[in-house]
Amino acid sequence: MRPTGKLHLGHYHGVLKNWVKLQHEYECFFFVADWHALTTTYDDPSVIEQSVWDMVIDWLAAGVNPGSATLFLQSKVPEHAELHLLLSMITPLGWLERVPTYKDQQEKLKDKDLATYGFLGYPLLQSADILLYRAGHVPVGADQVSHVEITREIARRFNYKFGREPGFEENAQAAVKKMGKKAAKLYTNLRKRYTEEGDGEALATAQALLKEQQNITLGDKERLMGYLEGGGKVILPEPQALLTPESKMPGLDGQKMSKSYGNTISLREHPDDVEKKIRTMRTDPARVRRDDPGEPENCPVWQLHEVYSNDEVKDWVQKGCRNAGIGCIECKGPVTDAIKAELIPIQERAEHFENNPDLVKTVIQEGSEKARDAARDTMEDVRHVMGLSY
Ligand code: SF4
Repeated sequence: MRPTGKLHLGHYHGVLKNWVKLQHEYECFFFVADWHALTTTYDDPSVIEQSVWDMVIDWLAAGVNPGSATLFLQSKVPEHAELHLLLSMITPLGWLERVPTYKDQQEKLKDKDLATYGFLGYPLLQSADILLYRAGHVPVGADQVSHVEITREIARRFNYKFGREPGFEENAQAAVKKMGKKAAKLYTNLRKRYTEEGDGEALATAQALLKEQQNITLGDKERLMGYLEGGGKVILPEPQALLTPESKMPGLDGQKMSKSYGNTISLREHPDDVEKKIRTMRTDPARVRRDDPGEPENCPVWQLHEVYSNDEVKDWVQKGCRNAGIGCIECKGPVTDAIKAELIPIQERAEHFENNPDLVKTVIQEGSEKARDAARDTMEDVRHVMGLSY
């Protein structure tokens, strides 16, 4: 996540709740992408530092747990830059120019000069961020799937160029023969189905078949695992996008909650300000007077009920709004209470970390060291296959 400073309920419902769940299901690496922040704020980097610590405090406050996941800072793991550089040597310019967000962002941030090398290369830096940890999955929203896709292409290109030992094809063919007639025929068939038709089931069956083989060496097994996927040894595995369900959390005006729209409730918002912000939210314009009936679908408060209220309350809103049985202030009561209640444990934890800045720094220091160990392992292999381990 880019360091954007204090986080809001949109981040919580869109990303952080999902991370809290994922940290118990996978081995997770969550990092602050501070170098990425430089691609668009290079003219004023002084804002980055505070944003980093504010964001990490909010992660911890939301329940992201350094005991379950590795939390670190990108710039503390210089291997990100090394892999980015090495991958840049094999990445065609056209791949980067075609990334949909490249032109979009340039359009959106017109007041900034983004005709820089760093900005063009940021999807590649993201690829390095992912491949460095040999990640199996990357939790992303639908708008980021193209970045995972380019990462897969880069990994494939890298493995193809550098994963093959000399004579790989011949050695693989010889290993197939050693399996015996029946298994060799089955393997060849399954490999064909996967490489020519992309049949994932055939790939899984072939992998299982290889595991069972008794009469070939471990080296041959590994070679044939790589051969299955069309290349040689897989140095950088291709990651999958793990699509994050889209957050329904609306901003105070009914648009997506975003700092740039000024419609946010931050995770550390004072309860009085939460009340004030909701009290002054606009409602259905048809309800000018208390006894004018309204329509929840035309009201941003209803969208909050959809996130926070149970069926009984939702029913009360629908009926009461349409027959003017309830007033808007009354209607806002349950969502105000629900948001305040949701923020209590988050703010208690945030206060603890705000009062212990050294603790936050230690979490990041330890996480960065752990991340660096994993990164070093990958880079050793990368340098080796690229002929750079001299
Ligand atoms: Fe919106 Fe509730 Fe007022 Fe209806 S009663 S307009 S849903 S705030």
